[in-house]
Amino acid sequence: MTIQWFPGHMTRARRQIQEKLKLIDIVIELLDARVPMSSRNPMIDEILLDKPRLIILNKADLADPRATDRWISFFGGHGHPCIAVDSSTGTRVDEIPGRVQEILKEKIDRMRSKGMNPRALRALIVGIPNVGKSTLINRLAGRNIAETGDRPGVTKGQQWIKVGKELELLDTPGILWPKFEDELVGYRLAMTGAIREQILNIEDIAYFAVRELVERYWDALEERFGIDEPPADLENNQEIVRVMEDIGRKRGCLMSGGRVDLEKASGIILRELRAGKLGKITLEEPDPYA
Ligand code: GDP
Repeated sequence: MTIQWFPGHMTRARRQIQEKLKLIDIVIELLDARVPMSSRNPMIDEILLDKPRLIILNKADLADPRATDRWISFFGGHGHPCIAVDSSTGTRVDEIPGRVQEILKEKIDRMRSKGMNPRALRALIVGIPNVGKSTLINRLAGRNIAETGDRPGVTKGQQWIKVGKELELLDTPGILWPKFEDELVGYRLAMTGAIREQILNIEDIAYFAVRELVERYWDALEERFGIDEPPADLENNQEIVRVMEDIGRKRGCLMSGGRVDLEKASGIILRELRAGKLGKITLEEPDPYA
């Protein structure tokens, strides 16, 4: 899915989420564990205001666990409880209802002290396209999803999906736009597959990917592609292109005359990076935001 975000779309997306905030107790903000800041909406605090929030670093199976731990501490330090999950297999997804209960404990206690029976807590999942919202909703829903479908007798409009006894999810997540103004953000999202290649040039994306990998995960490149000469100067474009050519040569991406087919090599680099073939890789550390 590619969404073209224009100012009108952003205003509408924001309004749609703000309308739903009235219906829910907590927002589940989904980020990509490999690029937590680039996959974050730039106006998220303004949009959610003081609604309780649980941050989820999704796709943690593809991210560097050491960096993920640092991000969890970072968000925790900023007052946002945070957990890391893999929605594709469901790893740690079952911790979500318990964390929601913890965050909303005061509210639940208040209801109890007024003699009310606490009802199921209601949550809305929000995030940029491709971060895994539908996958997580399906995981959390398990087999309950069929019961909330659009069928005669069921109220039209918002549908709630039951997650055990104590949590309900709005069935349609809130879709947010990423931070486009920053070129690096665009390239990082393209590297992880969140932005379609048609928008950016594939060789440019692979170039950015290789530069970032050389800087942070040279060993992974060396091991995966069998290359052995790291560039001496990251700012020298020619040296990064040379690494791309080395990779292309190792993978037989040659054109007539023996020149490396950079487009083909770029496709291989990006496909394998996104599939986790280079190992668990995180492109952003929290330090610049501390
Ligand atoms: P949405 O646009 O936010 O609803 O994103 P989707 O749920 O459609 O997921 C986008 C892609 O990411 C799909 O190919 C999913 O299979 C994949 N995906 C979602 N969650 C995870 C995860 O935790 N780990 C991995 N490896 N892939 C995931």
